[in-house]
Amino acid sequence: MRAFSTFILKVVNRCNIDCDYCYVFNSVDQSWRTLPPRLSPATARRAAERIAEHARTHGIDSIDIVLHGGEPLLAGVEFTRDLLLVLREALAEVSAIRFELQTNATLVSPEWLDLFEAFDVEISVSLDGPGLMNDRHRLDKRGASTTRAVERGIRLLKSRPAVFRGLLAVVDLRNEPVAVHDYLASFEPDVIDFNIPHATHDQPPVRFVPTMPEYGVWLSRVFDAWVGHDHQHVVRFAEDIMALSCGVKGSVESLGLAPSRIAVIESDGTFESTDTLRATADGQSKLGLDVFRNSLDEVLDHPSIVLRDGGLESLSEECRRCSLVEVCGGGYLPHRFRSSNGYRNPSVYCADLTYLIGHVQRHLDAAGWEVGLRRK
Ligand code: SF4
Repeated sequence: MRAFSTFILKVVNRCNIDCDYCYVFNSVDQSWRTLPPRLSPATARRAAERIAEHARTHGIDSIDIVLHGGEPLLAGVEFTRDLLLVLREALAEVSAIRFELQTNATLVSPEWLDLFEAFDVEISVSLDGPGLMNDRHRLDKRGASTTRAVERGIRLLKSRPAVFRGLLAVVDLRNEPVAVHDYLASFEPDVIDFNIPHATHDQPPVRFVPTMPEYGVWLSRVFDAWVGHDHQHVVRFAEDIMALSCGVKGSVESLGLAPSRIAVIESDGTFESTDTLRATADGQSKLGLDVFRNSLDEVLDHPSIVLRDGGLESLSEECRRCSLVEVCGGGYLPHRFRSSNGYRNPSVYCADLTYLIGHVQRHLDAAGWEVGLRRK
């Protein structure tokens, strides 16, 4: 059954800091300039009604709502409380709603903590590494470091049980991977996500030795740091590659062939495809559908979503023939993009994915796990 179960709500279309790699504000797509700075309660209510309708139609009793931005804490505590009340009320018939929020953590205060606790909101924080490693990209609008403010925010989040959930870091090859991993692990998150920078065949990733799978090597060193110790946290790409290699379903849309279950709703009520497609070319994430006129089933049937979720059928010939395709899935959709032919290309990170998956699978082999890839 194809259906959405995770709904990303773009609560705020502004940010208080200025990360140079941000796909919302510093990419070719500048649509944030014409979108409402905040999601209105009326739009949120309509979005929630659409989600409830979708849950009813597909018999979904458990959903994730992710409050996202920009920086969602710019919405303010009172506004967000009202928003959560609206969502809870409109989604009363859904038996399990999990609220999550992605933040830079610089604006966390005791009032926010009270709200997060009251609504069981799980918080993930963006942080690329210690000190200067984070400061390579994640500076404030005057060009000053944000690292201390983020660390303070994480400490506040950790002062309440079950609020702080995870960390998200973007890879920079100049940063030492084990130092980044161990620093992030020192905050004792449940989950650490590592994202490779957004890049396309038109705008390839920064590399220092173009013939080397440098991102694959970097992430493999993170993998080794993670499996080498008795860590309590999950490194999501590593767990997903191990699971997919053993024929078990993964959990992120950037790996594997399973359809994404994520729907994105902008602050004006328009539905988007994968929001990071804004990093590829102007308008690539737009669907021309919105919560006022269209159902989520119409979103499922939109050609861009059918392509996104098309599995093997939507991939390039090279990927379809690849022995790693069940795990790799052709790479994350934005990384397949080329302006001359769209998305039927191997990922611009193909060599890195090949290296990384091979590295993880050799570890599984050595540990006595059966790496069994069966084409369905
Ligand atoms: S991107 Fe590369 S590794 Fe991934 S499925 Fe395609 S050919 Fe295989």
